Amino acid sequence: MLIFGFQRRLFTLTTLTAFCGACKYTCPHGLRKFVTKFTLLFVPLFPINTERYLECERCGVRSHLPARDIPKLVEQGSAPLGSVPPSEMVRTQPRVAGIAWPDLP
Ligand SMILES: [Zn+2]
Repeated sequence: MLIFGFQRRLFTLTTLTAFCGACKYTCPHGLRKFVTKFTLLFVPLFPINTERYLECERCGVRSHLPARDIPKLVEQGSAPLGSVPPSEMVRTQPRVAGIAWPDLP
């Protein structure tokens, strides 16, 4: 008998200041990576889905991101506070309101 399943992991890559399109505030956003892996006998083998999104720390709305934008945002998140001018600040346009997945433990 084969025992297979899925493992879900949530990673916070960095936190950066961005303008939230939902709550209309400039506030911290968590840059998150959500990975689902296929497991066999409780051993995670390979990822079957990876999602990246910005999550507003104020209202919780998630904005999905293309993978090509991640390195730039991680660099922006590690920059000193206030060093990013407002014209270059990320402005989110949320497509998914509310919680798309149940909260992880
Ligand atoms: Zn917000």
